[in-house]
Amino acid sequence: MSEQLPSYRFDAPASQALFDRASAVIPGGVNSPVRAFRAVGGTPRFMVSAQGPYLTDADGRVYVDLVGSWGPMILGHAHPEVLAAVQDAATRGFSFGTPSENEVALAEAIVARVEPVEQVRLVSSGTEATMSALRLARGVTGRSVVVKFAGCYHGHVDALLAHAGSGVATLALPDSAGVPRSAAAETIVLPYNDIAALETAFAERGGEIAAVITEAAAGNMGLVPPAPGWTAAIRRLTKEHGAMFITDEVMTGFRASAAGWFGVEGATEHGAPDLFTFGKVMGGGFPAAAFGGTAEVMGQLAPTGPVYQAGTLSGNPVATAAGLATLERCTPEVYATLDRVAHTIADGVATELDRAGVPHCIQWAGPMFSVFFREGPVLSYADAQGQDTAAFTAFFQAMLAQGVHLPPSAFECWFVSAAHDDRAVDHVLAALPAAVRAITDSSARVRA
Ligand SMILES: *Cc1c(COP(=O)(O)O)cnc(C)c1O
Repeated sequence: MSEQLPSYRFDAPASQALFDRASAVIPGGVNSPVRAFRAVGGTPRFMVSAQGPYLTDADGRVYVDLVGSWGPMILGHAHPEVLAAVQDAATRGFSFGTPSENEVALAEAIVARVEPVEQVRLVSSGTEATMSALRLARGVTGRSVVVKFAGCYHGHVDALLAHAGSGVATLALPDSAGVPRSAAAETIVLPYNDIAALETAFAERGGEIAAVITEAAAGNMGLVPPAPGWTAAIRRLTKEHGAMFITDEVMTGFRASAAGWFGVEGATEHGAPDLFTFGKVMGGGFPAAAFGGTAEVMGQLAPTGPVYQAGTLSGNPVATAAGLATLERCTPEVYATLDRVAHTIADGVATELDRAGVPHCIQWAGPMFSVFFREGPVLSYADAQGQDTAAFTAFFQAMLAQGVHLPPSAFECWFVSAAHDDRAVDHVLAALPAAVRAITDSSARVRA
């Protein structure tokens, strides 16, 4: 073990005490599985506050945050103007159970940014957005089969959990228990970026397929962007067979660019996707998400159409105030900053891993990136699973011990914010040599 690190898993007594309490009353001590540190070991840090690029845990330790609440905190934590918008909204009431202006303004902001989207319905989580988009696609087409791609995560929707990314990948679960056979039977899982497999599926079952859903650029198996021609092939085949194309931009939306991944790739030569799902950034750290498409398709939702969809807290005035204040501040300068910060950190990681001879590849979607601990390119979930997760674990723990909070999984993107200033970035860069040494030390121990 390196001299610099007092202990590999340094003590976190206050977090440990909270985790013990949590484990008695919350399954696994967490309300979302990846938070439990199962893949990397040790005690998850319980945070008490967050400001700009920093998190402070219950033991008073400060971390540079490279999780950003898994995407939403694009401006950094507790951005003063977003905070003011939230306080202002909250002062006027928490939830009306009636329509209110904030939700209109947020819907307008989304529609203004993503050209093919004419209408959105607001919901409270990305899971609800994909679940509802799927129901709408099934309602419109009168079909029930859905095609998804291995390693893509679309929330914990029954039909979409098969071979999913995110926590399902982190915990190496094949699938989830509790998903009815009937739901699984209506899901076709194909390899991501595999046009031939998609053509075969449509040739065999094209008349049954309601929708193809994909992450616009996959970010839940690590970052795997669509290969050239992949998005166009999905659009061509869905169109030829009368199926809908759902692009899941819950992670990439307003993050990969102002118009999400759609803003990077644009419409294909066969057209744009039919339905888009959004979440994370558009909620500014509050529960807000959305799905949208053309007015014609969205008009099939109740109360104008036959597809039912609803929510007590949908379009919540405080959540929509946070989302709107966040989107309004996602300026070209913000995206330029994200890009610069992400490349500075990624370059630092690559330099140190190169120096130590640790196999790796870094993949991108706009300013989004992830580090795979294997040679690239990574084009599919099978490729992603071929990485050296033990190397990531050693790296992760050493970064954590030095005050850098990475996602606790080798299958997740690293999220930077516009608040990551030179001081925060320098702290990350300074932690890298010891973290890379932790990898080579641990693999030397394994060989010994
Ligand atoms: C996070 C995520 C979801 C699920 O969103 P929740 O708000 O966690 O339910 C769905 N799709 C993608 C691509 C995501 O990254």
